[in-house]
Parts: sequence; C-alpha cells; structure tokens
Amino acid sequence: MPELPEVETVVQGLRKVLEGAVIEQAWVRRPDLRLPFPKGLAGKLKGQTIERIARRAKYVLCHLSKGQVLLIHLGMSGRVKLGKGAIPEGKHAHFVIRTDDGNWACLEDPRRFGAVDLIDQALLSSHPFLAGLGPEPLEKDFDGKMLHKGLARRKGPIKPALMDQKLVAGIGNIYASEALFRAFISPLRPCSSLTLTECKALVRTVKDVLAAAIESGGSSLRDHVRPDGELGYFQHHFAVYAQEGEACPRCRAKARILRIVQAGRSSFYCKRCQR
Ligand SMILES: [Zn+2]
Repeated sequence: MPELPEVETVVQGLRKVLEGAVIEQAWVRRPDLRLPFPKGLAGKLKGQTIERIARRAKYVLCHLSKGQVLLIHLGMSGRVKLGKGAIPEGKHAHFVIRTDDGNWACLEDPRRFGAVDLIDQALLSSHPFLAGLGPEPLEKDFDGKMLHKGLARRKGPIKPALMDQKLVAGIGNIYASEALFRAFISPLRPCSSLTLTECKALVRTVKDVLAAAIESGGSSLRDHVRPDGELGYFQHHFAVYAQEGEACPRCRAKARILRIVQAGRSSFYCKRCQR
C-alpha cells in the first residue's frame, strides 16, 4: 500500500510534467474504482490548466484553472504512470489525461481500491476524505506539544494512535513502526503515559523517517511505477518493519525484532530497547 512518501514522490513526479499544462483530453474507461468516477469527468477536465499539484495526507490534489480540484487516491494498488505520445491501453489503465504538450498521465489500479473525485476548491476542506484530518506530519504544527496534548486523554497503545488520521494525517503502518523504534518507544505504551520529552522525540523521528523515505524516492512492497516512468520504487532497508526474527540494529546479538498484531496490523519492535 502506498504510504505518504510514495504519494509525495508521485506528486513530485507529476508536478514536473503536468504543472502549467492544459488538459487536451481525458479518458475514463470504467464507471468506478472504489467509488464511481464523477459524472462527465472527462468533459469537465478538457481545456483546464493544471495550475498546481499538492498532497494532503495520502491524496494527490491537482488544482485546476476553473476553481476545481482533481483528487486522486491511490488506494491499495494504484499507481501513476507518465509518458509521451500514444496513450496506454492496458486493461488496468482506467483513467488517463493527455496535455497539450503531448504528455499523458495514467492511473492504473488493478484492485480498484483507489478513488478519483472532482471537487470545487471552496468545498475541498469539507470533502469527506479530507474533513477531520489531523495536521501534516512534516508541517510545523505537528510538534511535541500538540502530540502530547492529543495523546493525554487517549485510551490504548501509541502505535494505532499514530496511525489515526485524525491525530496526524498520513502515517501508515511502516513508518509508525520505524518512528517508534528510532524514538526508543514501545508500540505497546499507553498513549497517556508518554511524556512531553518522549512526544518531542517521537515527532522528530516521525519527521526523520518520512523525510528520509521521500528523499530516496518512496518505498513500497508492491510493484509501483515511479512517476518518471521507471519501474518500481527504490526499496528501503527498514530497521524493524518486516524484520521479525532479525537482530535488533541497536541491540545486535542481544535481542531480536518481534512481530505483534495491534488493531489488526503488524507492529515490529525490539522489546529490549523500546520501552
Ligand atoms: Zn533493541
């Protein structure tokens, strides 16, 4: 599943090619993904300039010249391909736009858990996908104080809380485990037990793991295609994620990485150095 760094990488790739271009034609090749495509989408996009491409949580937001925003969610298996010339015709090439300079962008989504919507700019923040989202983890307003306050009255352990999009937007399973490891905090710790100092450390490590992943081009466990057309994302080495049974990178021979299940998702951690 694409996490925030993958989506950011897609946004950065799209930006290079599509920003400032005019949509010459669009193709919507099936009625729906996870949700129906907006009615008449292809016609509505035609002739609009793509003014700015941004990301909010795991949503790609293409701001268009007529005051509308094209929202793309990659879901579980969505990927974006870019190219020039003949547009892709593959059976998973569900949504394609071509710009006036001959470039195209195609959304492929074999499992169809993704979503596409066209929203009036003024209604963007109240859209069901975006309303109620917490701060962006890489922005300044996500800081130790804010996290400490957000966790104070919360029941349950820290790991599922970090993945709660209302607390902070866009942190998925991989980076929640990685950030907790770097902050020496056990995924099992009750939220309300985290001190302000620990919250500050955790905010720092969340930002660090996300920034490092974005820098190396995003990571994924699926065969994502990079927006620049290259097959596959750069594969990261994770300190704890999916490292069950391996030696802890800090404790070496003294401890192994454990896998536990929390809120239906795997958490990976070291019992010895994460408290
Ligand atoms: Zn350890």
